[in-house]
Amino acid sequence: MHRDIERILLSEEEISRAVERVARQVTRDFVGQEFTVVSVLKGSCVFTADLIRQIPIPLALAFAEVQSYGAGTTSGTMRTRLMPRDEEIQDRRVLLVDDILDSGRTLDFMKSELVAQGAKSVSSCVFLDKPARRLERFEADYRCFEVEDVFVVGYGLDFAGHYRNLPYVGALRPSVLEGASPSMGEVSP
Ligand code: 5GP
Ligand code: MG
Repeated sequence: MHRDIERILLSEEEISRAVERVARQVTRDFVGQEFTVVSVLKGSCVFTADLIRQIPIPLALAFAEVQSYGAGTTSGTMRTRLMPRDEEIQDRRVLLVDDILDSGRTLDFMKSELVAQGAKSVSSCVFLDKPARRLERFEADYRCFEVEDVFVVGYGLDFAGHYRNLPYVGALRPSVLEGASPSMGEVSP
């Protein structure tokens, strides 16, 4: 385990079983339809890569970047840069994929942007769901896990740009969250 991690919440094995389960649900619901997976950068890149490889039906892949401007992490104005081409969104079903559903602001905003771009429907798929922190009335159509209200990293999720490459999901040690710089070392398991 990485020395900055206090405890592992989700192991690689638990993650891969949950991703397979959600991929089966998506496959069942989207079979026979043209659809585009829109992955919200950067946090959902690991989840998206694992998920789509378990979905054995045709799909298109696109990306979107979301930025929040203004004070705090949950109160700013949101802007998005969609990297899909118009024809990947217009008149198509979209599966919006994100790492974690927290306040709900990101996905609520992204969903209305995609509808405004002409998507026929927008479903959402999240790796983690923290319902305790919801500010918008938003529920995901698919999710791998519900998690308690702790700040987690790994499997795509970062703290100050680090830890996205951990293969599991863990809680950071309080000393790291309080501002000590992330350690680059790895200790043996
Ligand atoms: P929302 O707009 O739903 O509040 O926020 C979702 C975004 O907040 C996620 O895509 C993620 O970037 C960030 N976030 C929320 N909770 C966590 C967490 O526990 N760990 C990390 N690393 N990011 C989080
Ligand atoms: Mg994010």
